Amino acid sequence: MIAETRTCLSCGKTIRGRTDKKFCNDNCRNTYNNALNGNSNKYIRSINYLLRRNRRLLEKILPVSKHTIKTTRQKLLNKGFRFRYFTHTQLNAKGKLYYFCYEYGYFLLEKEQVLIVRRKENTEEEL
Ligand SMILES: [Zn+2]
Repeated sequence: MIAETRTCLSCGKTIRGRTDKKFCNDNCRNTYNNALNGNSNKYIRSINYLLRRNRRLLEKILPVSKHTIKTTRQKLLNKGFRFRYFTHTQLNAKGKLYYFCYEYGYFLLEKEQVLIVRRKENTEEEL
């Protein structure tokens, strides 16, 4: 029986042992996975963090009892809101562009005013 020669995906050395092994050891596995995913995972995590923080800020400003509330761009910026980061946009019937961070959204009014809204229930098809 001829032993199959396999090489480590990380360091390229010949692997001995089970034929389904892809790496010589855990160290090589980690090095490989980190190189593959590390940077992009880090980037994704930081974006997710900003999106969730934006959502949390909108959630704090808009009381549960209300559907919309007005604030200013500056107040949001002061709280650390990052306008560059949103999960999606939506045009309403009047052609206004809403920016959403998950179920919380806003659109820009005149004079640096911002209207914060909460996504209505049962409108998932619009997302
Ligand atoms: Zn290796």
